[in-house]
Amino acid sequence: MPDHALLQVTDRGLYCEAGDFFIDPWRPVERAVITHAHSDHARRGHSQMLCAPDGVEVLRSRMLPGAVIDPLPYGEPVDHRGVQISLAPAGHILGSAQVRVEFRGEVWVVSGDYKLSPDPTCRPFEPVRCHTFITECTFGLPIYHWAPQAQIANELNAWWRRNREAGRHTVVFAYALGKSQRLLAAVDPTIGPIVCHGAVERVNDEYRSGGISLPPTQRVTDFGPGELAGGGALVIAPPSAVGTPWLRRFQPCETAFASGWMLVRGSRRRRGVDRGLVLSDHADWPGLLAAIEATGCQRVLATHGHTSVLVRYLRERGWEADSLHTEFVGERDDLEVDTPELPVGTAVAEEPA
Ligand SMILES: [Zn+2]
Ligand SMILES: [Zn+2]
Repeated sequence: MPDHALLQVTDRGLYCEAGDFFIDPWRPVERAVITHAHSDHARRGHSQMLCAPDGVEVLRSRMLPGAVIDPLPYGEPVDHRGVQISLAPAGHILGSAQVRVEFRGEVWVVSGDYKLSPDPTCRPFEPVRCHTFITECTFGLPIYHWAPQAQIANELNAWWRRNREAGRHTVVFAYALGKSQRLLAAVDPTIGPIVCHGAVERVNDEYRSGGISLPPTQRVTDFGPGELAGGGALVIAPPSAVGTPWLRRFQPCETAFASGWMLVRGSRRRRGVDRGLVLSDHADWPGLLAAIEATGCQRVLATHGHTSVLVRYLRERGWEADSLHTEFVGERDDLEVDTPELPVGTAVAEEPA
């Protein structure tokens, strides 16, 4: 990128010099616009943060006490040193936003993480016209193509029903923020009790208080001794619960990991789960292309994941395109993540995708 670019990558993050603010910076800064509360985008230690109103509560619960977070309603521009900043829904998790930055007639949009698939737990992605689009590219290969959400939900419900009939529990590993609530919104709560790990239940409460309707869920402490012995529950737990005593009470069980990576052959076996649920909160390949197309942009800068394939694809079709090196990590394909407490400014790889 040329030096005078409206947004530039610095050692602290994506920076707008004209407006003197950062977007999702990975080191503590004065002024940060935060696209969403996943930890690789929302680090601690900034003096002032701006985010979408839907996202304030989930963001606040991940920040240090007393963090200054100002809500900026979607579509309402604020002027900062002559730079107009506004937010548009990104369809990724509750409160996720794209950031539109305009200065002297030039418009850039930073997508944050986004998906185009329908998700009843957050506002749908809204394309924003711009000259330069900084897009995430977690699943930027043509092999990534998500099945309709209803199909995934049917698969999950049928599997849970079979397990219940066989006296087994059904354990789904999913990131605590976003994915777990999307799963909850998709399941059929008439099949049996739904038990959520404490880390998931905390976020459920935040979603419910944000007006998102989720089926009734229970904590493990709601059950007396032996009450879970007959199987039949749907258990939603973060990947970090694997191998913990908390999980051992749900025996016998079958397990699944909910992630876009489950589309890749061998992923399920490598993760040591019985099943893969191909459910991602990121755009698939057709989604990335549709989103880019809808912005009407001339230039695309791609971050997260396999950017080179997308960059080449776009260049061959007349876009200006480049990879942008950031510290965002995209959706992780392992179970070793989902660290709830991160020290200030830590670049720990966690993407509760
Ligand atoms: Zn995210
Ligand atoms: Zn991300």
